[in-house]
Amino acid sequence: MTQLVLFEDSHFIIDLMYAKKENMFGRAVYEETGYGNKAYMHKDVKNALLRLIPFLEQNNLKMRLCDAYRPPLAHEKMQELIPFPGFMALSPELSNHCHGTAVDVCLTDINGHNLIYPTEVDAYEKTFQQQVAAGDFAEFKIHLQKARHDYNEASPEAVKNRQQLKSLMESVGFESIPHEWWHYNLKNWQNYPLIPNEKAQ
Ligand SMILES: [Zn+2]
Repeated sequence: MTQLVLFEDSHFIIDLMYAKKENMFGRAVYEETGYGNKAYMHKDVKNALLRLIPFLEQNNLKMRLCDAYRPPLAHEKMQELIPFPGFMALSPELSNHCHGTAVDVCLTDINGHNLIYPTEVDAYEKTFQQQVAAGDFAEFKIHLQKARHDYNEASPEAVKNRQQLKSLMESVGFESIPHEWWHYNLKNWQNYPLIPNEKAQ
């Protein structure tokens, strides 16, 4: 992994959602493509994440890392599995995960239980996964509205936690996107090229 570094730190729980079957694809795509539960990323992303440690320690929290670098190979497979406009970037070139400059995250308590947010990370729920696998996107599309930063009908606690995560990530050099509360891009991501498939194992 020439351009990527492996991220491991005890303040973070490495739990890549596409390395297991409990995700919107219902498949362990990262295992199938020869990767797995390993969080690779550009070193600038790693350095930004490490700046969160004082906050995590002071607040007795951890951060769950649900996605990091995504090999273009895995992205293409995921696009095939869910051909739903708006869910996936239309090509690896357009996904910051494939550039090593994006992470999907949430905060957890010290025991690793996620704080309350308006949806699960990736808006995942088994029912939606089954519907989407059967080609029915209608309910999931409605559910996805709850993943937006401007969705304020969730519980006050969920809204507060989403806002806290946003301020926190912005404070160390990330920026949010409007439609996924869990997704953060490194600022100036435009300057980082696509990282081709590199064999992680
Ligand atoms: Zn993401």
